[in-house]
Amino acid sequence: MRAAPSTQYKSREEILNIHEFQAKDIFAKYGMAVPPEKVAITPDEARTIAEELGTAVVVKAQVHVGGRGKAGGVKLAKTPQEAYEKAEQILGMDIKGLTVNQVLVAQAVDIAHEAYVGIIMDRQTKRAVFMVSAAGGIDIEEVARDTPEKIHKLAVDPFLGLLPNQARMLAFKLYVDPKIAGQAAKILTQLYNTFIESDASLAEINPLVTTSDGQLWAVDGKMNIDDNALFKHKDIEAMRDLEAEEPTEVEAREADLSFVKLEGEIGCVVNGAGLAMATMDMVNYYGGSPANFLDIGGSSNPDKVVAAMNIITSDPKVKAILFNIFGGITRCDDVANGIVTALRRIAEGPGGPLKLPIVIRLTGTNEEEGRRILQEVDLVATDTMADAVQQAIKLGNK
Ligand code: GDP
Ligand code: MN
Repeated sequence: MRAAPSTQYKSREEILNIHEFQAKDIFAKYGMAVPPEKVAITPDEARTIAEELGTAVVVKAQVHVGGRGKAGGVKLAKTPQEAYEKAEQILGMDIKGLTVNQVLVAQAVDIAHEAYVGIIMDRQTKRAVFMVSAAGGIDIEEVARDTPEKIHKLAVDPFLGLLPNQARMLAFKLYVDPKIAGQAAKILTQLYNTFIESDASLAEINPLVTTSDGQLWAVDGKMNIDDNALFKHKDIEAMRDLEAEEPTEVEAREADLSFVKLEGEIGCVVNGAGLAMATMDMVNYYGGSPANFLDIGGSSNPDKVVAAMNIITSDPKVKAILFNIFGGITRCDDVANGIVTALRRIAEGPGGPLKLPIVIRLTGTNEEEGRRILQEVDLVATDTMADAVQQAIKLGNK
């Protein structure tokens, strides 16, 4: 059996991704030095902000993806007029499939050195782990790949927190000058507090810039928040930018479905996260690839099935739909009704009847009733998961 790529499936579902300017607002509240900056949604606004700042500025695309610099989404502007022009170029730009709707206009800093400092919640050690490198800036991924010895790690004991001597030890991995290392130790402590108190799964500054006069500045910031903890952080939850997220994921959240879009061709509708993972692994095992992770949950609500079908059929890559329902609290007859209702609504819609093949595996509570409902519309349910998965892949390949 191939290794289950479960962490890959889970990584996008569990986090709230916020923009650079939002992360830096939080950093500033914790005392870190962030260049004065403001967000613009038009080139005119960008010019006004640059006039107010009265300095050279950087105009930066605000999208939920790294590597904006290399993609042309970060540009220096010496005058307000130039800020207008750069904003005009960047707004509307496509960066790795995301459209730029807003730019950050930040006071430019003169860069003598760029370091990387970051913290992630590490599943293996079950601790917050610092990663720092004196070789920061836009090529940190390459540093991690080619010269991993240049990245220093430290797992923090959750009960003790980051101890002052640990902060200093990390700081001296980055800087020789004790004055600068002292500032860095303070920033590392502030970043740790930000990370813990925000229930973040990632917090990073890249670059942490040293200016020629020896001051440290957080020039770029990134934070991911564990969305199971968002009920504690209404202020952070309000930072959610629906326009910057995958539209189908937004629709799924509104329908109370756990959904993660993937790149494959088998649309999966499953009840229970564990079964959903197992289904995706089995699709992979039999040579297919899942178009999504989707958990309709344990409730008996046909509306959820309808919402799930709408979301899946809106993905043009999907070649077949696979239902895998193990009836416990979820009742098979409710799911069957949901499937029939969804098919009728789709048939009545502008595109006419659904053209995709559907394979259904249905066992458990009210199974007989569920099968009867499906038979009325000429749908057949299989008993075993392996059968259903293989059929879906076969029909999808036709
Ligand atoms: P990223 O590419 O998405 O990580 O965006 P960053 O905000 O990290 O910017 C990329 C690079 O642009 C940085 O590593 C810097 O080299 C450069 N940069 C960003 N802001 C400034 C600035 O204020 N002044 C100067 N001189 N360069 C900057
Ligand atoms: Mn960066």
